[in-house]
Amino acid sequence: MFADLHLHTNFSDGTFSPEELAEEGRRHGLAALALTDHDTVEGCARMRAACARHGIEFITGTELTADWQGIEVHILGYLLDTDNRELMEKLTRFQDVRQHRVNEMVARLNELNIPLTAESVFALANCRSPGRPHVGRALVQQGFCGSLDEAFDRFLKANRPAWVPKFKMSFSEAVGLIHRAGGLAVMAHPGLNRADQVIPDLVAAGIDGIECYHSRHSNSTAQHYLNIARQYRLLITGGSDCHGMSKGKPLIGSVRLEYTHLLDLKAAARSRQNIPPEAVAGSNATV
Ligand code: AMP
Ligand code: ZN
Ligand code: FE
Ligand code: FE
Repeated sequence: MFADLHLHTNFSDGTFSPEELAEEGRRHGLAALALTDHDTVEGCARMRAACARHGIEFITGTELTADWQGIEVHILGYLLDTDNRELMEKLTRFQDVRQHRVNEMVARLNELNIPLTAESVFALANCRSPGRPHVGRALVQQGFCGSLDEAFDRFLKANRPAWVPKFKMSFSEAVGLIHRAGGLAVMAHPGLNRADQVIPDLVAAGIDGIECYHSRHSNSTAQHYLNIARQYRLLITGGSDCHGMSKGKPLIGSVRLEYTHLLDLKAAARSRQNIPPEAVAGSNATV
């Protein structure tokens, strides 16, 4: 049995609806899926229902953007209470920041004589948690760029002319927020950050796990982070980070996490919440 614990839908910058994503999960024979949309858990209810129709186990999640001394670190939150008030308030704030950032990116593009409108980006995104991929897709759809890669390379990547830095909470705030919502905090795709110096501070802040398996990790990168997980006694997770059809073939199915790692994750969540297994299942069923 295998799981994919890193997936995005059109509730953030993925292109699949929750129903389409669950269908893809079924096609790849996955036993469990976690939804980790950026700064939102809004897609979880529909994803849970869609997974249930296919007999797939669903794991609640989100992906937060945090800062460590100027380095961007993504933190995955799993098995959290999606009704937690502080979590809801903070996510709403991060979503407001994302919407404001779209306006700023569009203003910079306009200064570069690219007449993109913020309205067209928001219409395309059609969600509360828009990001750079939506701006990029709008640039492609309206013929200002030939591809999403070109849009990022010319305008949207860090330090390119339409790039606007994103407000980031500190990594310890991200970990605390997830813990107070009853969840587990996992360092996402460490191989993409190339910043292992972050890890001791994340461990000190109480990080629970590390995403050893990821679609952009080579075998040796995965092995490197498996060793780090062992060294710091961290949970091991993995996922494809599928964003739908945005980059051609969907990535779902490219990472197949052994189910035993998910059992460990669930056991850790139960002991953190200090309640019996039935109650954990019940609390997640409310999302
Ligand atoms: P944001 O959260 O708005 O800063 O956007 C970050 C997201 O953009 C990531 O989660 C990726 O999905 C996507 N992304 C980052 N770099 C690229 C790139 N070069 N080409 C396409 N998508 C990218
Ligand atoms: Zn994304
Ligand atoms: Fe990420
Ligand atoms: Fe992601």
